[in-house]
Amino acid sequence: MSKYWSEAIRSLTPYVPGEQPKGSNIIKLNTNENPFPPSPMVLEAIHQFDTDRLRLYPDPDSSALKQSLADHFHVKTDQVFVGNGSDEVLAHTFMAFFRHPEPLLMPDISYSFYDVYANLYGIDVRHIPLQDDFCIALDDYSEANGGIIFANPNAPTGRALTLDQINALLQRNTESVVVVDEAYVDFGAETAIKLVEQYSNLLVVQTLSKSRSLAGMRVGFAIGSAELIDGLERVKNSFNSYPLDMLAQVTATAAIKDVAYFTQTTQQIIKTREWTNEQLLALGFKIIPSKTNFVFASHRYIEAAELMGFLRTHQILVRHFSRPGIDNHLRITIGTEEEMHAMINCLKRHPDIISM
Ligand SMILES: *Cc1c(COP(=O)(O)O)cnc(C)c1O
Repeated sequence: MSKYWSEAIRSLTPYVPGEQPKGSNIIKLNTNENPFPPSPMVLEAIHQFDTDRLRLYPDPDSSALKQSLADHFHVKTDQVFVGNGSDEVLAHTFMAFFRHPEPLLMPDISYSFYDVYANLYGIDVRHIPLQDDFCIALDDYSEANGGIIFANPNAPTGRALTLDQINALLQRNTESVVVVDEAYVDFGAETAIKLVEQYSNLLVVQTLSKSRSLAGMRVGFAIGSAELIDGLERVKNSFNSYPLDMLAQVTATAAIKDVAYFTQTTQQIIKTREWTNEQLLALGFKIIPSKTNFVFASHRYIEAAELMGFLRTHQILVRHFSRPGIDNHLRITIGTEEEMHAMINCLKRHPDIISM
C-alpha cells in the first residue's frame, strides 16, 4: 500500500499467472501452452520480415490479420476484433459491455481473470454454481443481468457445453451481451461462431496462445456483430491504438492460414490427451471428460497438493488451485507424448501408488 496509489487500485486483487521457471530441464505442464513449435509458415514470416520497417508504427487496425480471420471463419472484417492476447480482448469486453446496474453472471468456477476484470471495472458479479458433474448450469442463467460470460470448454474443468445448449441460452437472453471464451475450443469442442449471424448480442473470444502455439506473441481475437466489434474498437482506441506489434501481426496471419499444421498438431494433442486419461485412470485417478489441452484429475486416495509437490521434486510442473471445491484436483497440460510418458512414469514411482 502506498500513499501515491489512487483510491481505485487499493482494493484490486490482481491475477497471478502460472509459474514460468527459468531452468531448462523442466517438464512444464502448468500453463496450458502448446508443446509443438508454431507453424513453419510463422518461421518463414519472421525470416521474410524486413526489420527496417520497425522504425514505423504498425498498422493500427491489423487489417491483414483481420482479413485472414474473416476468411477463415467466413465472416466480414467488421465482425472481427483483435487484441494483445485474448486477455486484453476480454478486458475491453468487460469495459465495453458489462458495466450495467444489473450483475454480470458467470460460473463460480471458471477462468479467474473474469473476477479480476470485474473488480477492476467495478462490475457487480453473481457467481452461478456449476452442476455436481462440473458442467456449467446454463438453465440457471435466467435472472435479469448486465451480461453473461463463461469459457467453453470451461477452465480449469475442461468440460464443454454443446452448441444447442448455448443456442437455448441465447434464445432467452436477448437484452445483454453473452461472451463465450473459446480459448480451448480447438481441442474437441464446437465453436459458437456459427451463431453470431443470428444473435447480435453474442461475442466469441479466441486466442492464438493455445491451439496455434503463439502464447509468446500475445494475439487474441473476438468475433461478433459489427455493432459489438465497433464497441470494442471504441475502447481499444481510447486505450492503445497499436496493441499488436508488426511481428505479432505477420506471425498471427501466417498461423491462421496454415490450417494443415493446425489440424495435425491439435489432433496429436487430442490423441495424447486420450492416452494420458487412460493411464491416469489406471493409476487410480478420477477424470473429468476434457475437450481441452489439459486434464483435470483427482486421485482417489492421494491429495492433489501432495502429488503436485512430488511431481515438482522430479522437475515436472502441474497446476493446483487452492480454491475450495477444486482443491483436490490437478490441472495437467497435455505436452508431447514423451513428456506425458515421463509424467506417468514419475507418478508410478510415488510410494502410495506403488503400494496400491
Ligand atoms: C489462456 C486463456 C486465456 C488467455 O489467453 P491469451 O490470449 O494468452 O491472453 C483466456 N481465457 C482462458 C479461459 C484461457 O485459458
